[in-house]
Amino acid sequence: FESKRQSGRHFLQIPGPSTVPDRILRAIDNATMDHRGPDFGLLGKQVLEKVQRIFQTTQPVVIFPASGTGAWEAALANTLSPGDRVLMCETGWFAHLWQEMAGKLGIVTDLIKTDWRRGADVAQIAERLAADKGHAIKAVAVVHNETSTGATSRIAEVRAAIDAAGHPALLLVDTISGLASAEYRHDAWGVDVTVSGSQKGLMLPPGLSFNALSKKALEASKTAKLPRSYWDWGPMIASNATGYFPYTPATNLLYGLDTACDMIFEEGLENVFARHERHAEATRRAVRHWGLEVQVEDARHYSPVLTCVRLPEGHSANALRAAILEKFNMSLGNGLGQLNDRAFRIGHLGDMNDLTLMATLSGVEMGLRVAAVPHAAGGAQAAMEFLTGNQ
Ligand code: PLP
Repeated sequence: FESKRQSGRHFLQIPGPSTVPDRILRAIDNATMDHRGPDFGLLGKQVLEKVQRIFQTTQPVVIFPASGTGAWEAALANTLSPGDRVLMCETGWFAHLWQEMAGKLGIVTDLIKTDWRRGADVAQIAERLAADKGHAIKAVAVVHNETSTGATSRIAEVRAAIDAAGHPALLLVDTISGLASAEYRHDAWGVDVTVSGSQKGLMLPPGLSFNALSKKALEASKTAKLPRSYWDWGPMIASNATGYFPYTPATNLLYGLDTACDMIFEEGLENVFARHERHAEATRRAVRHWGLEVQVEDARHYSPVLTCVRLPEGHSANALRAAILEKFNMSLGNGLGQLNDRAFRIGHLGDMNDLTLMATLSGVEMGLRVAAVPHAAGGAQAAMEFLTGNQ
């Protein structure tokens, strides 16, 4: 592998992993400690308490040394039994992958399809649950922030639909790319298992993932019969009571997590959400000015985390991304699944400010010109005007 060195810093504007700030890198750089020694328990307890505040829960949060996919599996394996039915919404590529995993684990899935241009269809969820008089559906699984399309589903409304149907199904939510960027309230929204990961809004490298639980989810785990060992919540929660883990935790990433939580609390979680909304709005204004189409059609489902942009027929989104990487040292997200080469994704999550967003949008605009994609110049200017007018 031969890479030509480029000066300046690389702009990692994919929708996660996001750029890891220096303060977090410095924290991770501390000496690895004995994970059974006295100091570790103090760190463990402290981190577990801080992470609960990020999920906005008073209930247990389990931390796995794994990518988000592992925590997906944990959510299913701890709550369900072979042959159980789960209602899922195909909001995009990640919802599709979660469904595929459920199938491999022996779960039967009922899929509500979408055109990948909006979030979960709450009315259809309500309809399916109302029709399920015998309560065969054991869980409803929704991707909160669909990273392949930039659609954010309205989780509180999904909960309300489950309650209105008087249905006992568990609510499982993937907010792998939403946590600490898009508004998320595990307890207030009545979520039973929230799945998340470290490499997006938390500004950490990949390698940690999470399950935030509810009492009902813990109850379900007592009778769930899917095989589980590494992912078993039981030994985790027992060890976590004293700040320890049943197997070797990712010690240095936990130092980073501790610092990431501090940084988020210093800014204020609500301010973090507002910052992401503002940057997303500026980005959409740039996209519209260029004359390009935002993938998501329903404004109620716009993601504050990323914007997926469609290219006009006959233009290659992959060629555009390759030109931007080569000329301007910036990585953008590729189109996933049916959107491969049709769309690209701008990540505006994590450690961003107005200037990093402006550099990102300038890079996209210069790339559109270099790659000869038809567009109206001035999208970055439109974003700048929005940002300066909305301080
Ligand atoms: N779910 C969503 C919404 C994601 O964005 C991702 C990764 O980008 C995943 C699941 C899979 O997580 P991981 O790649 O960390 O295993």
